[in-house]
Amino acid sequence: MIYLKTDDEIELMRLANHMVSKTLAEIGKAIAPGVTTISLDKLADTFIRDHGGIPIFKGYRVGKLAFPNSLCISVNETVVHGIPGDYCLKEGDIVSVDCGVKINGYCGDSAYTFCVGEVSPEEKRLLKITKEALYEGISYAVEGKRIGDISHAIQEYCERSGYSVVRELVGHGIGRVMHEDPDVPNYGKQGYGLLLRKGMCIAIEPMINMGTKNVKFGKDGWTVCTCDGKPSAHFEHTVAIRRGQADILSTFDYIEN
Ligand code: MG
Ligand code: MG
Repeated sequence: MIYLKTDDEIELMRLANHMVSKTLAEIGKAIAPGVTTISLDKLADTFIRDHGGIPIFKGYRVGKLAFPNSLCISVNETVVHGIPGDYCLKEGDIVSVDCGVKINGYCGDSAYTFCVGEVSPEEKRLLKITKEALYEGISYAVEGKRIGDISHAIQEYCERSGYSVVRELVGHGIGRVMHEDPDVPNYGKQGYGLLLRKGMCIAIEPMINMGTKNVKFGKDGWTVCTCDGKPSAHFEHTVAIRRGQADILSTFDYIEN
């Protein structure tokens, strides 16, 4: 079931997404060698609640395997869904931080991969290409295009640069709940898939590996790592489909400017 959003709903989603973006910027400022990932999680949880939001990852998937924290923090070879803990960040790590917030009944979802101190040129390039691939995909997130156009653009951009695209995890529709239809894969065929319509809101989130595309799932039920132990990057924006140009509801401006 795909829910098209009105302009008013899209503005509410923009508010939620800007809260996510501001949270990621706070985390970016705190990232440094010696900092534990659980301390970053506490910072985000406090920041979100102080601003009237609800961190939507916490308790996601009810039951024994409910996600225990407010951020997913995935270091180096961890692709996504890393559980914050005692790990101390060290110089040269890359750290993907994924954040979701609900406020006024609507959700925001965005992710950014940060550098801890000075990172190798190879990893810097991985981050640059993954972020550029996200914007390549977004350029096709307009009325009249298809999901496959977004997917293909991301895959093509990353594979041309020598990287691989994770298959098991994909982007998604988003609205009153974090995960709505449709799926938004980071690989696919141009001209195929669901036709994009004005008012659709989707999270586009390339997960790109330096080595093999293959991943393994951790015993904790969440952590996803590359099979070869090589690093992985993750950038995500929530966007609204419009005529002519995508409307990016989250922003990296708070992080980068
Ligand atoms: Mg996310
Ligand atoms: Mg997402």
